Amino acid sequence: MDKLVNLGDLTKQELEEFVENLGQPKYRGRQIFKWVQKGAESFDGMTDQNKALRSLLKDRAKIYLPEIAEKFVSKIDGTIKYLLKLEDGNYIESVVMRYKHGNTICISSQVGCRMGCKFCASTIGGLVRNLSCHEMAGQIIRASKDMGERISNIVIMGIGEPLDNYENILNFFKIVNDPDGLNIGLRHITLSTCGLVDRIYRLADEKLPITLAISLHAANDGLRKTIMPIANKYSIDELIKACFYYVKATNRRITFEYALISGVNDDIKDAIELSNLLDGLLCHVNLIPVNPINEADFKASSKERIEKFVKYLESNNIPVTVRRKLGSDIDASCGQLRKRREEVNS
Ligand code: SAH
Repeated sequence: MDKLVNLGDLTKQELEEFVENLGQPKYRGRQIFKWVQKGAESFDGMTDQNKALRSLLKDRAKIYLPEIAEKFVSKIDGTIKYLLKLEDGNYIESVVMRYKHGNTICISSQVGCRMGCKFCASTIGGLVRNLSCHEMAGQIIRASKDMGERISNIVIMGIGEPLDNYENILNFFKIVNDPDGLNIGLRHITLSTCGLVDRIYRLADEKLPITLAISLHAANDGLRKTIMPIANKYSIDELIKACFYYVKATNRRITFEYALISGVNDDIKDAIELSNLLDGLLCHVNLIPVNPINEADFKASSKERIEKFVKYLESNNIPVTVRRKLGSDIDASCGQLRKRREEVNS
């Protein structure tokens, strides 16, 4: 027998084609798409579908939502962190942040990561595999179902490098954007990348109104190479050129993420280099006091140094914010929970 198709991997159009191939009318595909995106976990629950079709579906297809293995809720700000178990036993993490303007979910795009950034917990065991569309959308569907609330914003900043899982990410956008599904506007989606330059050009040409965030973390190649291996493949010059192209193609402001690491990249000379680099680019800088991990000896910059850094950028008219730390009591930044779980299981 053929492998069962996971219906959560199909866009509405693909699902319509799928049911047509089963000799069913197209509108059935739309109805089933709605069920899947609402978080149906069995075909029997699809009460508007006749028995014959339901049994046909059971033969050909399946649905699977990631299971909640652990859940932590911050007493400080209500941030929720999920450790989710996938069908094959792998674990990923998602975090829901509660803002006045709605709930934002931070999702994972891969099991592990092969980018090797020195300060990041997600990459320590390397890449296991890409997440499929149903596993990316499934993080949102599962969390929303668990909370009984709508999630209106997505940031792809969890475990993994989303542009290393390019085709699935593009289909994922179509699925979550569908008015019959989660109906999340592309403007409410941020994709964060360590800077895969060739993929940034491709993404620019798709002309999607998503927000692109670039993990820069250093303003010269020498320093960047010491903390981010991707800098050996693409120079900062090439990266910034791709960013100018992206802004021209999409008219969207780019966010630069810059983790401030004490004594590494937080000097005023780094701020000067950074502001020279971003001169003339439609952008915004998001400074993140680095979150220390056990495997590396990085410490967050002091308040004073952060303030000086911010002031310098501001004096050069670069919009800058310091990321507010949410869920500090539940260790809400990604990668560490999964790692701990893998260690216990091995
Ligand atoms: N691979 C993508 C998305 C996942 S990481 C990327 O590189 O952008 C999401 C963000 O968290 C990135 O900016 C990453 O550099 C940052 N990050 C990872 N580990 C961190 C840590 N220990 N402290 C602060 N930021 C970290």
